[in-house]
Amino acid sequence: MNHETFMKLALEEAKKAEAIGEVPIGAVVVQHGEVIGRGHNLRETEQNPTYHAEMIAINQAAEHLGSWRLEDCVLYATLEPCVMCAGAVVMSRIPVVVYGATDPKGGCSGSLMNLLREERFNHRATVIRGICQEECSSVLTTFFRNIRKNKAARHKGVVNLKVESTEEEMKE
Ligand SMILES: [Zn+2]
Repeated sequence: MNHETFMKLALEEAKKAEAIGEVPIGAVVVQHGEVIGRGHNLRETEQNPTYHAEMIAINQAAEHLGSWRLEDCVLYATLEPCVMCAGAVVMSRIPVVVYGATDPKGGCSGSLMNLLREERFNHRATVIRGICQEECSSVLTTFFRNIRKNKAARHKGVVNLKVESTEEEMKE
């Protein structure tokens, strides 16, 4: 199976997050062609800052292997891993990271910095970016566009309410 196939599985996870109102980010950990960990963003649901898709997938994979060393594993993430998740990749010795969309505001796997290629650490990962990039970004942009739309609709609702009550007052 190729990178696109596994990224589609990460995208499925992202859509699970979207379905419950979480920012749609998904991840899977694959070893020898088998998915051994999967996760989607649950930060709001759990009110836990460490519940990123990648962290959940990495935890599941470690549990599956009974080891903190995720050797021969590939992490697929729909969005470029942040400082914490890239850190977890270094700590778990994952050799390959594949991601879809870049995150210019928080990505630490090439955008703001690249913790996965940092010479001073005792571990470096191969980074492959841009797999299913369009789909990975569009799921995020659609999510945020809808939030803005809903906010605008609510705001309009409030304004209309005010206008109505003013009219009521005028009648009195
Ligand atoms: Zn993260």
